[in-house]
Amino acid sequence: MNNKRIIIAIDGHSSCGKSTFAKAIAARLGYIFIDTGAMYRAVTLYALEHGAISGCIADEEKIEAMLGDININFRFNPERGASDIYVNGDMVEGKIRTIEVSNCVSAVSSIGAVRSKLVAMQQEMGRGGGVVMDGRDIGTVVFPNAELKIYMTADAMVRAERRYKELTAKGDNVSLEEIYENVVSRDKADMSRAISPLRKADDAIVLDNSHMSVEEQMAWFDREYQRVLGC
Ligand code: C5P
Repeated sequence: MNNKRIIIAIDGHSSCGKSTFAKAIAARLGYIFIDTGAMYRAVTLYALEHGAISGCIADEEKIEAMLGDININFRFNPERGASDIYVNGDMVEGKIRTIEVSNCVSAVSSIGAVRSKLVAMQQEMGRGGGVVMDGRDIGTVVFPNAELKIYMTADAMVRAERRYKELTAKGDNVSLEEIYENVVSRDKADMSRAISPLRKADDAIVLDNSHMSVEEQMAWFDREYQRVLGC
């Protein structure tokens, strides 16, 4: 077995299970998993709580000015087998997954200063390799030289249904229509923004998991991983 610790970049559409997939890969390989969407969500939550977003219109100047006050870090939670995200010492893992944050996050992630700060943090976190990072610009901007790049997608309604089940199981009062709208409009915003839009890197391999179980996705990954490592 090859012991090389590579960088695995996973990008793709909203709510297609990137984080679940990335987390499973990291656990299998003993790699660190970094959910970069959580970082954009954390900035969005902070901006919402500090009056810098109203009606999902982000006040760019205000947000840029408050970036220095937002200290983001991850701490491993053995119960979840993954890291929880903290903002200025507060664990915000639950608070960043609400529909309110989902509806406003694209407005914040399109701000250049926000991206510069978070991309620099992500590059630092993945510097030594042995990392699985998921997001929208990992294979194109954060780690353009990543050894393995995966571009994930799935049918929009399949994605909405999965997210709906997840949120309602937690007791959130949301409708399937609302989630479907969010998924579609987030894809559109992420793909059409001026800075680092979501796009497939030329050397990324596509994984459409609309009709795949987690086990099938892992078997697919194992084949691609072996291929990249050349064994
Ligand atoms: O992955 P998740 O759906 O939690 O990401 C939330 C949002 O954060 C995305 O819709 C996108 O606007 C933004 N994002 C980004 N770049 C990344 C990761 C997430 O712009 N690398």
